[in-house]
Amino acid sequence: MSYSEEELINISIIKEFFFCPRITYWQQILPYKAKQPEWVQFGKTIHTNIEKKMNRRSLRYFRLEEAILYQDFHMSSSLLGIVGIADCIMETQTKIYPIEYKNSPHISIHHIMQLIGYGLLAKEHFGKLLQGGFILLGKKGKPHRIEINNSLIKKFWDTVEEIRRILENNIMPPSSSTTSTQCATCHFLSLCNDR
Ligand code: SF4
Repeated sequence: MSYSEEELINISIIKEFFFCPRITYWQQILPYKAKQPEWVQFGKTIHTNIEKKMNRRSLRYFRLEEAILYQDFHMSSSLLGIVGIADCIMETQTKIYPIEYKNSPHISIHHIMQLIGYGLLAKEHFGKLLQGGFILLGKKGKPHRIEINNSLIKKFWDTVEEIRRILENNIMPPSSSTTSTQCATCHFLSLCNDR
């Protein structure tokens, strides 16, 4: 099966989907653009700082001295049906490693799912092995190695399938947000009359 450009699922959607699948509906189906909250801008600043650090960092830091780095690397695949811009891809002679920068004190499942999505795109793009990647956390970009196994890859594809189902069927999914605190920080609250 081959997907058209309009049918490609952007990997950046996954973050909001895990926060609440209804956000996927609001963002993708309605022509509504929410104002970006301040923390998004703060996250972008940290992202730029880590990117600069990565340029200065020796690849010995990752014990991958012979690797080539590609920052803000755009990839898409009509075969996989996904598209996105990876924070960084490291390429060695035989393997590729996706690297994501996250402004967060800990690793969440959506970070890992995004990492896997970029890894799968890079695997196809470079035609090399994908076994792991790195998530760099917080202002200092502390690296955490993530092993990529079949069960995580299956979870990634289940997630993409569910997002595709929401978009194709044009139905508002139930909210998975269990607390009013979660909804209170959501910029789509004014549209969710049942919250
Ligand atoms: S306000 Fe609550 S239910 Fe509505 S999209 Fe946001 S998190 Fe989901």
